[in-house]
Amino acid sequence: MKYPIAIIITVCLILSLMVSFCPAETEEDFKISEIDEATFARMKGKSYKDDCPIPLGDLRLLHVLHKDLEGNTHKGELVCNVYIASDVLEIFKALYEVGYPIERVRLVDEYNADDETSMRDNNSSCFNFRFISHTTRISKHGLGLAVDINTLYNPFVKEVNGKRNVEPATAEEYTDRTKSFPYKIESGDLCYRLFTERGFEWGGEWKTVKDYQHFEVSDKVAEELYPNYR
Ligand SMILES: [Zn+2]
Repeated sequence: MKYPIAIIITVCLILSLMVSFCPAETEEDFKISEIDEATFARMKGKSYKDDCPIPLGDLRLLHVLHKDLEGNTHKGELVCNVYIASDVLEIFKALYEVGYPIERVRLVDEYNADDETSMRDNNSSCFNFRFISHTTRISKHGLGLAVDINTLYNPFVKEVNGKRNVEPATAEEYTDRTKSFPYKIESGDLCYRLFTERGFEWGGEWKTVKDYQHFEVSDKVAEELYPNYR
């Protein structure tokens, strides 16, 4: 035999020690923080507009890891409501651990809080104080109670004044849900299950509009937390 058994055992021991000393992720990789001054400075006048009725204390900054389609690991950040913070952290952790691809997770403030630009970049995000498109109702994103995942490939499709509207406008080819393509969210897949098991509703199952990127808490929960929000 070319390699004595003792050498093989020693090499295996060293390798296993290296693995145990180099954990795949640390507590810093997946964590929930209050919105500190530095974070608020990034949000002010963008996702957190001056007329935002949600107290800053109700929001949290999440740090997550995520993998892209090639399996490369990236650091991501998102702001959401404290009510869903642990759930969202657990969901992103579970998706990361199985290598479910998520291309980008950046604060929407990096896009000047412009949802269309963020979606065209396939960014996944949560809090952004705004109204539901083509209405005067506060979106659940405005409460930090809705999460959008892989937004370019999972667009929002709605009829407005008899005209079909797709957001982002560059996502037309991904509105045909009979096709298969990367980053597509489908009923019953892991992303869908992780959210719906925790009580989120999926916009891909709505009847009048389709919002394939969108997971939100129920109206009942939102109204209990913010009775006057609409
Ligand atoms: Zn959404």
